[in-house]
Amino acid sequence: MIRPLYGIYGAGGCGRGVMPLLRQQLAGERADLVFINDGAVAPQINGQPVLGWEAFLAVESERKSVAIAIANSVIRQNIERSVLDRGIGIVDVLSAHATIMDDVVIGPGSIISPFVTITSNIRIGRSFHCNISSYVEHDCIIGDYVTFAPGVRCNGNVHIGDHAYVGSGAIIKQGTAASPLRIGERAVIGMGAVVTKDVPAGATVIGNPARPM
Ligand code: UDP
Repeated sequence: MIRPLYGIYGAGGCGRGVMPLLRQQLAGERADLVFINDGAVAPQINGQPVLGWEAFLAVESERKSVAIAIANSVIRQNIERSVLDRGIGIVDVLSAHATIMDDVVIGPGSIISPFVTITSNIRIGRSFHCNISSYVEHDCIIGDYVTFAPGVRCNGNVHIGDHAYVGSGAIIKQGTAASPLRIGERAVIGMGAVVTKDVPAGATVIGNPARPM
């Protein structure tokens, strides 16, 4: 019998953390689940087959969907384009142990890991990766292809531009409705940084208080 096929794109650290979440999310659905990886890796990882992209396309299936589990946001965007160009759907992955409160809008392709909390009145773009134990507080606006490593504390009224990367354990001070704290596009926040003021587009900041590297 031909069943729906789900692919996790990327069989690295990120993909191996996402596979169990998608497996749990699909429990009860009769679907096949594989890794997709372009580079050479083992034929199976953690009990799940690994296919190249062309091999994934060649599999006969009733319906195909892909979750892109690669931390690099530019690669994520490129792969998303290839997936959509082939008419394949993007699946969101939401841990059963995440909490999402009121009036939260999240774009397609998000991966929300265990112990994440996203509180209320929040807007988030495409392909948001929110890693374990991170939170996003009220009234934040987050762009497309933004990546949170584990343990990010993003307080209220923070605006984050497309492709920004926030390192593990970083803390972002809250802004106000009248004057949100702004992190520019493609900015990189180092692990453990304490961000107390705006970060320009493309800047890398580290330390406490966070300063340009
Ligand atoms: N990868 C891929 N296609 C690409 C870029 C990367 O299949 O265009 C794969 C790469 O071969 C690797 C995985 O994605 O297996 C990324 O794993 P890594 O541990 O380097 O990074 P992370 O999982 O943290 O994103």
